Amino acid sequence: MGRKYKLIAQLSTVHSKDDQLEPERVLNRLEETVRIVPLDVLAMGWKERTELFEMLTGASRVCREVFLWYPLLSDYPGFDLSHLVVNYRSERSRGWGGYGGTGIEESFKQACPNNLEAFRLTWGNLDRLLSHYDFDGVFLDKIRFPSMANGLQDVLTCFCPFCREKAASVGLDLFEVQAALEEGGRSGKGAGTAAIPPGAEWLEELLASQPMLLQHIRFRAHSISRVVADVAKRVQAMGKKVAVDVFSPSLAALVGQDLPFMAGLAEWVKPMIYRFGNGPACLRSEIPALIRELAGFLGIEVDEALKWAAAHIEELSGYSLRQIETAAPLSLIGAEARKAVRLVSGTSLCMGLETVSMPGVMEVSPQHVEEAIEVGIGAGVGGFVLSWDLLHTPLQNIQPLRSL
Ligand SMILES: [Zn+2]
Repeated sequence: MGRKYKLIAQLSTVHSKDDQLEPERVLNRLEETVRIVPLDVLAMGWKERTELFEMLTGASRVCREVFLWYPLLSDYPGFDLSHLVVNYRSERSRGWGGYGGTGIEESFKQACPNNLEAFRLTWGNLDRLLSHYDFDGVFLDKIRFPSMANGLQDVLTCFCPFCREKAASVGLDLFEVQAALEEGGRSGKGAGTAAIPPGAEWLEELLASQPMLLQHIRFRAHSISRVVADVAKRVQAMGKKVAVDVFSPSLAALVGQDLPFMAGLAEWVKPMIYRFGNGPACLRSEIPALIRELAGFLGIEVDEALKWAAAHIEELSGYSLRQIETAAPLSLIGAEARKAVRLVSGTSLCMGLETVSMPGVMEVSPQHVEEAIEVGIGAGVGGFVLSWDLLHTPLQNIQPLRSL
C-alpha cells in the first residue's frame, strides 16, 4: 500500500519437478516470500496444475492479483508441428535446444501467428483456463517470431501458406522476399519506405536499401500485433486484464514486436532486459548470436559486425563478444531500460528483474539484484517482475526489494 513501485513475481509450473510443485510446498514458499516483501501480482503458469491453480486463485491467494502466465504461440496443449513457422528454405522452426534433457518443457519453437488452426487451439485453451479458474488476467508470453538465439534460419520466417495469403493481401509477395533472402539480401528490390516498429534503429539502418525486407519486418510485426490485439479484446470482454512479456527494445522489431502498440493493449508490460540469463530473450545470448549470424549471412568478419553493432546499439561499444557472453554489460541494461520506458509511456513498465539463481548456469547474487534495481529506477521504470521463477529464487535475492 502506498508503495511507489509495482512488484510482480513469476511462478513457473514447467521449470521444477513435480514434488517441488506440490501445492502446500509452493504455498509455504510464497508465504515466506511475501513476508519479506509484499507482492502486487503473481503470474503463474504455464502448465495447468489443477490443485495449485485452484489454491492460489482461490481463498488461499497470497497476492492481491493472480495472472495466468500463458505462452500464446508456443508449447500450448495441442501444439503441433504443422503450427510452426516456416523459414525461407521451407523448413519448420527448430527451436532452441538448450534445455534438452533437463525435463524443462520449454521448446522455444514458435507457432505462426497467421495459422488459423494454431490460433483456434491456443485461444481455446486460454479461454478454458480463464473461464475455469479465478485468474484476474493473463500475462501473455511467446507473442513473437523466433529470435537469433535459435539461429538465423529460425529468424527468417514465416513463409507458410497462411502468411503468403495474408502478405499478398497487403501487396507483399513472399516468394520475392524468399528470393531476396536466398541471395543474401543483396537484391535491393522493392520501392518506397516501410516504417518498422521503433527501438531497433540498427535494423532500419541495416535494411535501408532493402525496402521489401523492411516491408516484411513490418508485415511480421502487424501479424503479431493483430493476434495479440484479438486475444486482448476477447480476454477483456471476459472482464479480465492483459499484460505482456516482450523482448528488450533493440531486439523487439526483429521478433515482430511493436512495443508501443502492445503497451496500448496491456495493463503492464515486462521487457526481458536480462543480464545473466543464458538462452532466448537474454541479452548475453541474443546479442552475440545476432552479431555472429549476421556476419555469416552478410559474409563479413565477426569483428566487423561487432564494430557495426557497437556503433548502432547504445552502450554496446568497448566490449568484446566474450565479455558480453559472460554477462550483458550493466550500462547496456540501463540503456535498454531507458528506451523501454520511452517506448511504452502511458502503461506501467515493469522491468524483468533476474532473481533466479541456478548454480553453474546463472549465479545471481543479492548484489546483482541491487544493481539491476538501481539501474531500473534510474531509467524510470514503474516496477519490477521477479523473473522468472520464485521456486528458483533464493530468499536472499528477495531481500534487496525491501528498499522499494
Ligand atoms: Zn506463417
